[in-house]
Amino acid sequence: MSEDCIFCKIIKGEIPCKKVYEDNDVLAFLDINGLTQGHTLVIPKQHYVNIFDIPEEILTKIAKVAKKLSIIYKEKLPCSGVNLLNANESCAHQSVFHFHLHIIPRNENDGVDLDFPGQQRTPAELDAVLQKIKN
Ligand code: AMP
Ligand code: ZN
Repeated sequence: MSEDCIFCKIIKGEIPCKKVYEDNDVLAFLDINGLTQGHTLVIPKQHYVNIFDIPEEILTKIAKVAKKLSIIYKEKLPCSGVNLLNANESCAHQSVFHFHLHIIPRNENDGVDLDFPGQQRTPAELDAVLQKIKN
């Protein structure tokens, strides 16, 4: 637990949340500022900052919950699809420093713009990156 972490306070029951799922290790609740109806955050009950410190087995549990909820949302909300999104560090727009995986239910023409403006990379550029990663 981290004293001034808003998600730890939610886990402790000090701040309310709209809970959609809970087990021993994982909690899922509706995002207070959801992009679409049903936008959900799946978090570990223990405080981990982000992908860089969360243990693999807890990450696996979060992924399993995200899959279960995605299937439920597809049928029940309903939605046609979902985006799973996770931000790590402020350069990547992480704003709450307790690991969380967003489930964003999606439908055609729902007005959400998650287009990433990528740039075409040359084979030489890609090879240079591969070398960095592998060496
Ligand atoms: P990120 O920007 O990826 O770190 O996402 C943090 C998310 O937490 C945002 O989408 C916020 O709307 C959401 N959030 C912050 N405080 C609360 C809260 N008390 N209850 C539910 N969601 C929250
Ligand atoms: Zn926390």
